[in-house]
Amino acid sequence: METPKPEARSLNFIEEIVEEDLRAGRNDRRVHTRFPPEPNGYLHIGHAKSICLNFGLARKYGGLCNLRYDDTNPSKEEQEYVDSIKRDIRWLGFDWADREFYASDYFERLYEWAVKLIEKARAYVCDLSADEVGKYRGTFTEPGKESPWRNRPVAENLDLFRRMRAGEFPDGSRTLRAKIDMASPNINLRDPVLYRILRAHHHRTGDKWCISPMYDFAHGQSDSIERITHSICTLEFEIHRPLYDWFIRELGIYAPRQIEFARLNLSYTVMSKRRLLELVRDAHVRGWDDPRMPTISGLRRRGVTPESIRAFCERVGVAKMDSTIDVDVLEQCVREDLNRRAPRVMAVLRPLRVVIENYPEGRTEELDAVNNPEDPSAGTRRIPFSRELWIEQDDFMENPPKGYFRLAPGAEVRLRYGYFIRCKEAVQDASGRVTGLRCTYDPGTRGGQSPDGRKVKGTIHWVSAPHAIEAEVREYDRLFSVPDPGGEDYRVHLNPKSLQVLTGCRLEPGLASARPGDRFQFERLGYFCVDPDSAPGKPVFNRTVTLRDTWAKVMKRT
Ligand code: ATP
Ligand code: MG
Repeated sequence: METPKPEARSLNFIEEIVEEDLRAGRNDRRVHTRFPPEPNGYLHIGHAKSICLNFGLARKYGGLCNLRYDDTNPSKEEQEYVDSIKRDIRWLGFDWADREFYASDYFERLYEWAVKLIEKARAYVCDLSADEVGKYRGTFTEPGKESPWRNRPVAENLDLFRRMRAGEFPDGSRTLRAKIDMASPNINLRDPVLYRILRAHHHRTGDKWCISPMYDFAHGQSDSIERITHSICTLEFEIHRPLYDWFIRELGIYAPRQIEFARLNLSYTVMSKRRLLELVRDAHVRGWDDPRMPTISGLRRRGVTPESIRAFCERVGVAKMDSTIDVDVLEQCVREDLNRRAPRVMAVLRPLRVVIENYPEGRTEELDAVNNPEDPSAGTRRIPFSRELWIEQDDFMENPPKGYFRLAPGAEVRLRYGYFIRCKEAVQDASGRVTGLRCTYDPGTRGGQSPDGRKVKGTIHWVSAPHAIEAEVREYDRLFSVPDPGGEDYRVHLNPKSLQVLTGCRLEPGLASARPGDRFQFERLGYFCVDPDSAPGKPVFNRTVTLRDTWAKVMKRT
């Protein structure tokens, strides 16, 4: 696969740390990262940021990056998510080779480590309920209270923990907790729960375990088992780091270096997996891969390229402070990439019939059209021209304002790759609605050249009516109508016009052979791709992005 050259830039702060570790000869000069998704949803553009960062560091420094599923919460995890995650990472252009790991593969080892902590009197079985544990924990301003079970003898703890595993106690009746410090200013160190009793079918271990380790007890040790050198995570884990360090120290095992960076947030978007799941479940969108979703699968279906997502992640960089990136930045990266690679074609989305009265009936000729002016190697193609054409309704005005250079009664325009045509009159139905145009063409202007230096300012796109194929086109707008739809009532900000389905669109005939996933620029309209909903003879297109940032203009006007 072709990798675009990274834009020249200075090192980000994580690269600085890695290079300093390499210079100091730490970890035998290894760089080993991992991407650790929890298989409880589809990946989104925020995950793409973490994927590019982790796999990118490994690639840059000749190291390795593991794929590790942090699958400690059986009640929310599913095989469907495991599979979609792999598909999305591969599509983004990264490869974990044979290093596909699961925290659940380490359950036996984690159990042994828990026993070790008990033996060292660093962990105890607690009979408080989840509610009580919460109450005893204290607050940010008040210290917690010690559990009455905190000083159980080691032998009793070992026995109870073994029986927890053996299934002797009901769900939620007991936990195993670390014995650290109930007065610590860091709440994570106030005797955190390590294991709970939870009978739930696990997507890999089945019903083998009725106790399950908490994420915090599994995550750092999983990194240690895999000898991860740089354990990169988002800022909310900074406050968990002292706990991870405590486990590593007490267990005397290999210590990865945790580095926190700021989550990627995008305007006009929600990114929490819980909310994305709600959008899918409550049918606000058509599925995880709905082209309006910020999921990788949604972006892919929309026609976004992996190259543009990687370029976007590179452009936004790695920050230490949370911020929100304007979704325009992503769209701009998509445009830049598609501009280079997408073939140009002509498509009319809201058709208006044009009859060229002086063009012979039944005649067809073929005109040369350029496939991609950005890429001469893309060559040219031939497009049919005939007496009846479709043009865009927008490209005609009965009473045009000054400065309107498209069609109007008496006005002349250039048809892209075709001839100059002049509008004689508009045909109207009984209600006065314009249903078609009568025009004439100038045979001396083939290919759009003016024979006599006559100026024609407007150039419009068109397709030949008898040759055109019909299609459905789905135009997408932002899923939310405010820049920051966060908050519990995010649903009230859903944009009711985020999807507009146009039927009866007319496309140049060459598009009959387009396949799902193929991407095009519809001249003057934007970038579009073929949706998997297409059937033979019934293509469906998604608008990936408009040609320019029209949104900013709309915002100014309203
Ligand atoms: P959850 O709330 O379910 O834990 P999560 O978004 O943290 O959601 P994970 O599956 O745990 O999901 O994330 C996998 C990895 O991706 C983690 O290392 C996480 O830090 C990173 N990640 C998740 N969201 C973002 C984001 N918006 N920006 C950057 N990295 C992210
Ligand atoms: Mg997480």
